[in-house]
Amino acid sequence: MTGPERATGSAANAIDAAIDTVTDAETDALARHIHDARQRVAAAAARGGRPAEDVLLVGVSKTVPAALIQAAYALGLRTFGENRVREAHEKRAALRLPDDARWELVGHLQTNKVARAVEIFDRIQSVDSVALAEGLDARAAQVGRVLPVLLEVNVAGEASKGGFAPDALPEAARAIAALPHLRPEGLMTVAPLVAEAEAVRPVFRRLRALRDALRETQPLGPDGGWPHLSMGMSDDFEVAIEEGATIVRIGRAIFGARPMQ
Ligand SMILES: *Cc1c(COP(=O)(O)O)cnc(C)c1O
Repeated sequence: MTGPERATGSAANAIDAAIDTVTDAETDALARHIHDARQRVAAAAARGGRPAEDVLLVGVSKTVPAALIQAAYALGLRTFGENRVREAHEKRAALRLPDDARWELVGHLQTNKVARAVEIFDRIQSVDSVALAEGLDARAAQVGRVLPVLLEVNVAGEASKGGFAPDALPEAARAIAALPHLRPEGLMTVAPLVAEAEAVRPVFRRLRALRDALRETQPLGPDGGWPHLSMGMSDDFEVAIEEGATIVRIGRAIFGARPMQ
């Protein structure tokens, strides 16, 4: 498994070839990882006085062969996160998982992929501009669906990352909430890479504060709406849950290390 080709140009072939190549040892390791992740999610939720069911575990399956996704489904994982439209489309088509499998986009979406994205994803977590939201809304209208979305926030202001600047969020949220074929469900962030998860606790706290502010200034429904905080990945999800995450996106801690991209 080398380079981005694994996930794009040759993905269909690679997926077909890999479809029945999961060994018993790989299945055992996957089962252990999913079990451990669920235990850690539950423990972190309990520290905040919440039940484990409050936190959705999204298995981030980018670069992961379809066979391993199939195995994860068989082990009870139901929600998969992908960061590329084409890769997700090819895997979905190859796998044909039952209807209760859900696919969420967690990576940047290019406007020329909007139509396909609306077709295949149950939720887009990475809405990072009003123009993109308008494109998604128009396409969702065409196909007669209301698309759940999260607004991505670049909390730490990293130049390398997408997402709304915190200052720009209220106005963007107002514009996006007015789009009839999108259903904004909350906020998402990717925290900076740090050596110690504790160092990004303020980032998660800030995302929650931004969400709480939106509930006041841009309420959606009688309870304020904006229910979801998608924050926390393999190295920091417990801290994120302690700070109120309702969705964690876990890749490596479930599927193992990814090839370098
Ligand atoms: C890759 C990715 C993840 C998962 O990262 P891990 O460190 O493997 O858990 C989560 N969210 C986004 C947006 C990603 O791109």
